[in-house]
Amino acid sequence: MWIRLENEADASVVAAQLQGMGLWTRALEDASGMTTGFAVEPFSAAIDWERLGQLEGVAEVQRARSAHPRVDAQSGLDVVVGSVSFGAQHDPVLISGPCAIESAEQVDAIAAVVARAGAKVLRGGAYKPRSSPYSFSGHGQTALSWMRQAADRHDLAVVTEVMSEAEVDGVSAVADMLQIGSRNMQNFALLRAVGRVNKPVLLKRGMAATVEEWLLAGEHLLEAGASGVVYCARGISGFDPHTRNLLDLGAVALLTSVYKLPVVVDPSHAVGRRDLIPSLAKASLAVGAHGLMIEAHIDPSQALSDGAQALSPETLLSLGF
Ligand code: PEP
Ligand code: MN
Repeated sequence: MWIRLENEADASVVAAQLQGMGLWTRALEDASGMTTGFAVEPFSAAIDWERLGQLEGVAEVQRARSAHPRVDAQSGLDVVVGSVSFGAQHDPVLISGPCAIESAEQVDAIAAVVARAGAKVLRGGAYKPRSSPYSFSGHGQTALSWMRQAADRHDLAVVTEVMSEAEVDGVSAVADMLQIGSRNMQNFALLRAVGRVNKPVLLKRGMAATVEEWLLAGEHLLEAGASGVVYCARGISGFDPHTRNLLDLGAVALLTSVYKLPVVVDPSHAVGRRDLIPSLAKASLAVGAHGLMIEAHIDPSQALSDGAQALSPETLLSLGF
């Protein structure tokens, strides 16, 4: 964004006022070295356009065209998944379930707990992205039907990850909401194939993605036809191995309070250890998250994936949803 000064303006007075509004600026000079305006840096505070235009000495304000107009148009709108709504006007939504759907019995037992804990949506992977090709990678379509039956029995909606274009039809026939995993946030062919089925999407932030890249991934989904996008913060890569990833709550606050987009936080994949999850869940809601996605297992010691971060039924029930 650019601000052009009136010819007679005192640039230092305008600069001080801009700084007072939380805007970081760079002076624009003409060939003689005179300040003729300011460029506003992207890491500035939210802009009060009306006040900006009225500042003494400001002749004109020019906005750069957004690269994600469809995302911007979603600002303030809810995302609806069956009878569940994600948005500022609604109670935070708990999404919970195991990392992976392991058996019909396992998912039914945890779905009962998840429903009792106040969750509205059952999560679980049928197709699992695993860093090692030798790790358990899910029971695929069979797991989806176990999951659907368990969800229906306990009156829950279903969100599950779709990892490839070939799986989109099979997953969307069963799921109420499709999940794009962190590793696929910039798999544009997948984003477009998922968008085309016109369902709501839970879009995880890539572990090394900027906020702008995350929003642009949302733009791909919406442009292709997704009925809504909920942004899921699951931690970005940090340098400290004490926690699995680094939960960027600043980005959550930015999306919820400035861009007014629906955001869910996944503290499970963010920290990777169950003892820190209840604290991070509270912190996430405090910065305005519209929901939480939390992994839980009937017996975490026997989980086939991510057992160290799975909450026991008792802990999940104690979260107070
Ligand atoms: C998941 O939620 O099952 C998952 C694999 O998460 P992420 O994509 O955030 O690693
Ligand atoms: Mn997991």
